Amino acid sequence: MKDRMKKQTINNKQYLSGPEILKEMNISWSKEMFDKTKEDYKKVSRVIPEIEWSVFAPYIQAINTLKKDMNAVILAHNYQTPEIFHCVSDIRGDSLQLAKEAGNVDAEIILQCGVHFMAETSKLLNMDKTVLIPSMEAGCSLAESITGEDVKKIKNENPNIPVVTYVNTSAEVKAESDICCTSSNALEIVNSLDSEEVIFLPDEFLAMNVAKETKKKIIMWKGRCEVHEEFTPEEIIEFRENEPGVKVIAHPECSPDVLAESDFSGSTSAMINWVKINQPKKVLMVTECSMSDNISVENPNVNFVRPCNLCPHMKTINLENILESLWNKQHEIIIDPEIAIKAKQAVNKMIDL
Ligand code: SF4
Repeated sequence: MKDRMKKQTINNKQYLSGPEILKEMNISWSKEMFDKTKEDYKKVSRVIPEIEWSVFAPYIQAINTLKKDMNAVILAHNYQTPEIFHCVSDIRGDSLQLAKEAGNVDAEIILQCGVHFMAETSKLLNMDKTVLIPSMEAGCSLAESITGEDVKKIKNENPNIPVVTYVNTSAEVKAESDICCTSSNALEIVNSLDSEEVIFLPDEFLAMNVAKETKKKIIMWKGRCEVHEEFTPEEIIEFRENEPGVKVIAHPECSPDVLAESDFSGSTSAMINWVKINQPKKVLMVTECSMSDNISVENPNVNFVRPCNLCPHMKTINLENILESLWNKQHEIIIDPEIAIKAKQAVNKMIDL
C-alpha cells in the first residue's frame, strides 16, 4: 500500500521520483563513486564544496547512464548551475546555439536545461525529435510579457511595418513575426529590413539599445527581463570604485544607462568569448550569476566579481528533475503544427541572413 502510494501515475505511466530512480538503478554514494567521478568533480571544484558532491554524484552518474541508454542529448543554457553545465550536458551555449547544434546530433531525445521558450525553439528546429523540459515552471518574464494576440493587435495598429521578434518569445509570438533576432544580431537584422520603421518585440531595453545605433524608427513593447532590469548604473559605478581596474561587460537586456557604464556589451556567447580572448585580471559580468561560475572553471586566471542576480525560472531545473524527466519521459514539448511552420519560418529567415 505504502509503495503504491509512493508511485503516482501520469498518463497511465508509472512515475518514479528522483530517489526512487536511484534505488531502481542501484546507484548510491560510496568511496568508489568518489574515485570514479574525480575528473567530473575537478571541473567544478572551484565553485562546489566537496561535501556537496556526495549529493550530486549519484544523480550525475544516473543521468549520464540513462542518457546513453535512451539515445538522448542534454542541452544546457549558459545560466544553468555548474553541476548541470559541466557534468551532464553535451551541448552548452545560448538558446539559438543550443537549438541549432541539437539538429546536428544523432539523438532521438533532446532534453533542454533552460526555460520553456528555449525548449520550443529546439522543437521548432528539430520537429522529428522528442524534446523534453525537466520543469514546467521554467518560464520567463520576457517571453510571458506578450502573446500572439498582442502581436496581431500591434500589426493591425501599424500596418505594413515589419515585425522583428527576439528569440526569447513563445512559438505563438514567433509565428506572428516576420523575422526573429538574437541579442547579438538584433541591429544587423533591423538594418537589413527594407522599411524606415520596424516593430521590435518584446524587450524594451534591447529595443532602446538597438534604437541608439540605427537610423530606423523603432516601435517598442514594454517587455523586460526580470534579471537584467535589476541592474543600475549607480551599482556599476560603485563596483568600479570598490574594485579598481575591473572590466565591466553587460548583456543588452540591461538598460541603455547600464550599457553606457560598461566596457563591452553582447549576448551571453559574446560575453564568454570576450573573457576568453581578453583574459582581464578582474571582470564584472552584468548578467545572471551562474554564468560567472560556469566560465570561471575555464578561466582560472580571471577574477570574477559577482553581482548576484539569479533567474528564478532557470533555477527550477536541477539534477533531480533532469533524472525524472529522462526516466519518465516528461514534460514533452508539443507545438501546434500550423504555428510551428510559421514560427520556424521566422527563425530560419534570421539564420539565413
Ligand atoms: S534571465 Fe531573463 S530573459 Fe533569461 S530566462 Fe530568466 S527572465 Fe527570461
